[in-house]
Amino acid sequence: MRPAAIKNQVSAGGVIFRENNAAIEIALVSVKGGNVWCLPKGIVDRDEKPEETAVREVKEETGLEGRIIEQIGKISYWYYIREENSRCRKTVHFYLMNYLSGNTADHDTEVDEAAWFSIDEALKKVSYKGDREIIGKAKEMIEKAE
Ligand code: ATP
Repeated sequence: MRPAAIKNQVSAGGVIFRENNAAIEIALVSVKGGNVWCLPKGIVDRDEKPEETAVREVKEETGLEGRIIEQIGKISYWYYIREENSRCRKTVHFYLMNYLSGNTADHDTEVDEAAWFSIDEALKKVSYKGDREIIGKAKEMIEKAE
C-alpha cells in the first residue's frame, strides 16, 4: 500500500557525560524490550525550544539532570507509521551536556533501562548509525575541550 501521507517530526536529545576514574562516560537508554540502545531524545513540544526539550527528555528518560554546553548536530531518518499509513521524516537535534545530578535508576517507564557506558563502549553499543555519528562528534568535542 502506498503511504497516504508524509509527516515531518522534530525531536531533540542529548549526549550527557561525566568523568569517572579518568574515563568519559555517557548515558544511553534501551527500548524495544532491551533490544535497542540509543541516545535519549523526544518530540519538541509546541512552544518549546529544542534545547529545553533536550534537557527535559534527558531528565525524563535517564533520570539525569544536565546542562547544555553546545550543539553537536542533527540527524534525520525516515520511518513508517503503520496505524496512519504514513511515512515520517524525523530530524533530531542533539546537544552536548554536562552531568549535574541524578541517578539512572530514576528513568521513566518510556524506556526499559538507562545506564552509563564509557564513550568507546557506547560507540559499540548504540543501535543506530546516526546516534553513533553524534557520539563520535561528542567525543571529539570533549577531547578538544580537555
Ligand atoms: P521520540 O523519542 O522522538 O518521542 P518515538 O519513540 O515515537 O519518538 P522514534 O524513536 O523516532 O520514535 O522511533 C520511530 C522509529 O524510528 C522506530 O522504528 C525506531 O526503531 C526508528 N529509529 C529511532 N531512532 C532512529 C535512528 N537514530 N535512526 C534510524 N531509525 C531510528
